[in-house]
Amino acid sequence: PALINRIAAGEVIERPTSVIKELLENSLDAQASEIHVTVRGGGQSLMRVQDNGHGMNEEDLILSVQRHTTSKLAHSDLWNIHTFGFRGEALASITSISKTTLTSKTKDQPHGWSLHSEGGSLEALKPARCELGTCIEIRDLFFATPARLKFLRSPAQEYRHLNGCLERFLLLNPQVQFFLHLDEKQKVFKATSLEHRIKAVLNVAVLEGFWLEETVHDIHITGWASLPGAHRRQADRIFLYVNQRPVDDRMMIHTIRSAYHDLIPKDRYPWAILFLTIPYVDVDVNVHPAKTQVRFKSPQDIRAALLTTLRKVLFEQGK
Ligand code: ADP
Ligand code: MG
Repeated sequence: PALINRIAAGEVIERPTSVIKELLENSLDAQASEIHVTVRGGGQSLMRVQDNGHGMNEEDLILSVQRHTTSKLAHSDLWNIHTFGFRGEALASITSISKTTLTSKTKDQPHGWSLHSEGGSLEALKPARCELGTCIEIRDLFFATPARLKFLRSPAQEYRHLNGCLERFLLLNPQVQFFLHLDEKQKVFKATSLEHRIKAVLNVAVLEGFWLEETVHDIHITGWASLPGAHRRQADRIFLYVNQRPVDDRMMIHTIRSAYHDLIPKDRYPWAILFLTIPYVDVDVNVHPAKTQVRFKSPQDIRAALLTTLRKVLFEQGK
């Protein structure tokens, strides 16, 4: 099983940031309202995610690191069918290629338990002193897969990926408090509204943007976008979510920029945080679940909906 897990890990865990993504998703699934993320050395030497979610008991802990065990019911929507292949695989994969310590406590237990694994071989459970919730600590990622280790990028490059990933989580979950410790840098994001969370992520005192909410046919769009005068130097301040999942989509980004094309200077970019809700049947299910790419059945409808919505609001703002 260790070998199979390592092969699966190659699919799910491309880089340190993939680990953080999986751990954060689990913490949020466990209803955490407070999450600490610690990363050292770009994630290769240490990654730790600690949450105050519902936790795991002894039995859950053992099960959590086994392949294809998930405590989560599969949803019946199409979007989730293609994630199904990876259900219950993340922790098994991660533990198979690293030195992992899981510590957890549920509200029904007098004390917590801790489970250590090296390259997938488990040590005996030990009682642990801890608060309600789960702490997962990963050291020496890829130590068991030297080929992957060789292809690791520099810590600086990994932190760029990591920041992108963290920003996506921050914006999707403003109601959750995040403590980030990346090497020497520490940052706290208090639980707040979306508007205030956007200010914190964009690092601005005033949000020079507008709220929008629009339905075009069966595409529902909500979120915030910059006022024409509030353009940025950075091109990467457009955050997109489709059915609550972060997506990277050139077509959508291009469409948003083009809505602003005659309103801002050529070398400047709009910012936007937009949440699209579209029927599951209109999203191609045949896309890699660990990636953030998406394929729409009819991209032209998405493009038209985005453009109509933005142009309408921008026109009203301009009056
Ligand atoms: P999945 O999330 O698809 O179920 P994972 O491998 O990511 O698969 O996790 C396996 C199981 O471990 C989860 O179903 C959950 O029961 C448990 N688990 C993992 N992380 C946490 C956490 N932070 N808090 C509570 N339970 C967790
Ligand atoms: Mg998971």
